[in-house]
Amino acid sequence: MSDEFNKNQFHPESLMMSYGYKPEWSEGALKCPIFQTSTFVFKTAEEGKAFFEVAYGLREKRVDEKSGLIYSRLNNPDLEILENRLCLWDKADACAVFESGMSAITTVFLEFLKPGDVILYSMPLYGGTEHFLLHFLPKMGIRPIGFKPGMSYEEMSQLCRDQEVSDKVAMIFVETPANPTNTLVDLDECKKLADSLSDKDKKVMLAVDNTYMGPLWQHPLAHGADLVLYSATKYIGGHSDLIAGAVLGSHELMLRVKTLRTFLGNMAGPWTGWLLMRSLETLKVRMEQQTANAEKVAAFLNQHPKVRKVYYLGLLTPENPQYRIYQKQYLSPGAMLSFDIEGEESGAFRFLNNLSLIRLAVSLGGTESLAEHPASMTHAGIAPDHRLEMGISDSLVRISVGIENVEDLIKDISRALAI
Ligand SMILES: *Cc1c(COP(=O)(O)O)cnc(C)c1O
Repeated sequence: MSDEFNKNQFHPESLMMSYGYKPEWSEGALKCPIFQTSTFVFKTAEEGKAFFEVAYGLREKRVDEKSGLIYSRLNNPDLEILENRLCLWDKADACAVFESGMSAITTVFLEFLKPGDVILYSMPLYGGTEHFLLHFLPKMGIRPIGFKPGMSYEEMSQLCRDQEVSDKVAMIFVETPANPTNTLVDLDECKKLADSLSDKDKKVMLAVDNTYMGPLWQHPLAHGADLVLYSATKYIGGHSDLIAGAVLGSHELMLRVKTLRTFLGNMAGPWTGWLLMRSLETLKVRMEQQTANAEKVAAFLNQHPKVRKVYYLGLLTPENPQYRIYQKQYLSPGAMLSFDIEGEESGAFRFLNNLSLIRLAVSLGGTESLAEHPASMTHAGIAPDHRLEMGISDSLVRISVGIENVEDLIKDISRALAI
C-alpha cells in the first residue's frame, strides 16, 4: 500500500513505526538505519544536475519527482523520514528538523522578519526565545511587543493602535499553555488579529510554539496558525537525552524555512534524527501515561494543606474564563503542572531539596519526573515585578510529570511536603 493511502487510513501512532521508509532502501532492514554520511553518490552526472536544479529552485519539481539526496546539510534520509512522520500529528504539509528548539525558533524569526517590523508575543515566553526577541532582534531594527495571555482580539487591536504599530506587525508569536502557569492564549483571537492586520500586500503570520503541550493534544495549524514550532528536546524526544527542534507548516512557508536552514546549516544530524524516530514510536503511550499520572498528582496537591493553589488544566472549572479556551483548543490537560507552596522561597526550596525520586532539574516532557523553581531558575531572567504580574511568585514550584508509578510519585511529594 502506498504511504498516501496509509496516511489517510490509519492514526499517527500506528504509522510511527513504518511511515515513509521502505526496507528495500536498506537491504531489507526492518528499521530505518542511521545514514551517517555527509554526501550522496549520483548515479549519473545528469541525475546530479537534475537534483541541483530542484534543490536550488532553478525549475519546478515535476509531479511525482522526489528531491534527490545531495549532501546532508540539504537533506538526509533520517531527517526526511522523521519530518514526514512529524507532519502526521499536526496534519502539516511539511516539516523541518533543527539541531535545537532555539535554532528552529530563531530561523523562523530571521526568515520572516525584517528591519522596521514589529513582532507581537504572548507573555511569558520561554527564556531563550524572550532573550532573542528583546536583545537580538532590536539590533536588526525589529521591535518586540508583549501581550498578556488573557487579552481578547479587541484588547490586542487596541494595544497595536496605542503603540501605533498596526501597519508594522509582521508576526504574532504565541506560547500556550504559558510556561509555568498553564495560562491559555486563545488562538482564534490571535488569528482574527493576524487577519485584521493583514492586507493584500502583507500577510501577518501567526506562529505557535507548541512545546509545552506537545503535538498530540493541541493543533495550532487547525486554528489557523501558519507555523507550529517545537523544542523536540521535550515531549517529542521524551528521554532527556538529546537537543532538537522542529517547524511545521505549508509547503510554501516551509520551503523558505528549509532554504534558510540550508544556509545557516543548523539542521539536526542523522543520529539525532534516528533517535527522534525511535522516540516517536512511543510518543502517544508516554504522553498518555504522563497525563494519567499528572491528573493524580494534581488531585493530591490540590487537597494538601501546604499547597495554596495548583495550576493544572485538568482542574479548570466551567466558571473560569479559561475553561472555554481549554474546551475548544485542547484534547487533554497534559502533564505539566505548577503549584504555590506555603513558605515562599524557603518553603519551595525545602520541598525541592527533600524530593528523592523526582529530580531537581529544568527541562520537561521526559520519561522521568522533574521539579524546579521557576522564579530562581527557568524564569530568573524576567524582572521581578513583571514576573509577579504573570503569577510566577517565589512560592511557585513546577513539575513535569513522568511515567513512574504514580503512587511512588505521590509518596515522594507527600514526604517532601511533610518536612
Ligand atoms: C526548551 C524550550 C525551547 C528551547 O528549545 P531547545 O531545544 O532547548 O533549544 C523553546 N520553547 C519552549 C517552550 C521550550 O520549553
